[in-house]
Amino acid sequence: RAKHAGRSKACFFDAEMDEAVRARRQIEAELRHATTRSQLSVNYQPILDSRTGSITGYEALMRWNRPGHGMSEPEVFISIAEESGVIVQLGEWVLRQACTEAARWPQPLSIAVNVSPVQFMLPNLCEGVAAILEETGLAPHRLELEITEAAFERDRSNVIATLMRLHGLGVRIVMDDFGTGFSSLSNLRALPFHKIKVDRSFTGILEHDAVARSIVRAIIGLGHSLGIQVVTEGVETELQRQIVIEEGCEQLQGLLLGKPDIEPSVKLAARENFLSVHGDGFDRPCNA
Ligand code: C2E
Ligand code: MG
Ligand code: MG
Ligand code: MG
Repeated sequence: RAKHAGRSKACFFDAEMDEAVRARRQIEAELRHATTRSQLSVNYQPILDSRTGSITGYEALMRWNRPGHGMSEPEVFISIAEESGVIVQLGEWVLRQACTEAARWPQPLSIAVNVSPVQFMLPNLCEGVAAILEETGLAPHRLELEITEAAFERDRSNVIATLMRLHGLGVRIVMDDFGTGFSSLSNLRALPFHKIKVDRSFTGILEHDAVARSIVRAIIGLGHSLGIQVVTEGVETELQRQIVIEEGCEQLQGLLLGKPDIEPSVKLAARENFLSVHGDGFDRPCNA
């Protein structure tokens, strides 16, 4: 009896597994056509100078308008895209799109683009980035490539070599989601990081959790002692903002300061400036 029950349970489990595998395969197949069918887009989230409150740049965040499912966020599809390798195609599309967009922004603004560990396995990642910079005319120092610690868990020496070559191009390297992966300290010591991003899982609990605050303080101290700027992501409340500023964090990103948007606020700001200088065609009393 028991044996029999065990077996039918296993069958049930298998059926569930099959369904999950089938669903992932379906997403994978659809993703292969996402770029050619114009289903991908990029949202831009502002990153601010914590002292002045001015925007220093934007992070490009991929969105997929999946037919029949609406706008999907990366959590749903990035891991599938990575497993199947389609991320290489998607990542290149986002990079080209983001650089094209940023090349039109006022000079000092930077654009941060996430690069998957799978892309770091490519032998020609650096050439690909150089070609896109050339093609779009974006100055290399305005491009920030965000890498997570997971990238170092694969082919470490190759990833390091690629990072050094990207650094040689003049592109800036950012350690994303810092504090959630492994071997962070040795990576920081050995590599030319321009910035560290404190993971938003710490930010979210800062107000109530003294340990989280200590960790954030330590990350900021570590960054500064290595001459690396620190960004806090996921800032949602005024109190969180105050705490990380008090701890010495240079830059802020989060819903409190600006949400990811298809139209970066720089465009809107530029249009307002344009209107205030050139007028919008409406007559107004001049009381200057
Ligand atoms: P990430 O690089 O750490 O990006 C920050 C994520 O935090 C974004 O999620 C953003 O929408 C979200 N976020 C921003 N402010 C807040 C806040 O105040 N509170 C909270 N809870 N979240 C906030 P998103 O857009 O869903 O992206 C999730 C992750 O997917 C990204 O994390 C990144 O790892 C990955 N991703 C996004 N776009 C790309 C891409 O083009 N290529 C690759 N390889 N990965 C990407
Ligand atoms: Mg990121
Ligand atoms: Mg992050
Ligand atoms: Mg993340």
